Amino acid sequence: MTPGRERQEAERQQHPGREDTTGSSWSEGWYLPAIASPSPNHGPRPAQGPIDLIVLHSISLPPGCYGGDEVRQLFTNTLDFDAHPYYDGIRGIQVSAHFFVRRDGALWQFVSCDRRAWHAGNSAWRGRTNCNDDSIGIELEGLEGELFEPEQYRTLRKLCLAIRDRYPIAHLAGHEDIAPGRKADPGAGFDWHGFERMLGWPSTMFPARIRVAKNIRSAP
Ligand SMILES: [Zn+2]
Repeated sequence: MTPGRERQEAERQQHPGREDTTGSSWSEGWYLPAIASPSPNHGPRPAQGPIDLIVLHSISLPPGCYGGDEVRQLFTNTLDFDAHPYYDGIRGIQVSAHFFVRRDGALWQFVSCDRRAWHAGNSAWRGRTNCNDDSIGIELEGLEGELFEPEQYRTLRKLCLAIRDRYPIAHLAGHEDIAPGRKADPGAGFDWHGFERMLGWPSTMFPARIRVAKNIRSAP
């Protein structure tokens, strides 16, 4: 790395909100290849603590229905809560995620990654609580326990690589890992081992339960 690049790199880490000049695909926390649909549901990141965690979720509205506009509407506070009986249980909630990966691999972004999105709720991981403070939340269009599409894995891989290029990501976990007993997404249908192979990231970045399962599977 050249000294100039090094300086740029150091400055980028000190000022994560600033756009860099290295021809990156990011602008003020927005990933430019994604379709932007800004959500009002976000707040400032706390000053301390690196953004070092990616949290994976699954969502579909109504559950199991794919391809509609309802998730985008939910994340932008424009969902008609009278449109389906299921919405009675979530009436008025204000939530968001940074990203949403559709079944066909299309990618949406709702909140700048430099801002705190509202996806994790009460949670803890790698010794820190309130994971919304210092994580990036990615929702996969799907249903807990069910399979995801190859197009989703391809988009998710590109996105995770781009995020790690921009933020000091050191951990990747499911919502079920950071809020066990309370949340179960993305669930058993998400292929963690396959995704780990696709990313080529160290296995220490993944939840220990994945490593344990792999060891059991590869035992004689
Ligand atoms: Zn979730």
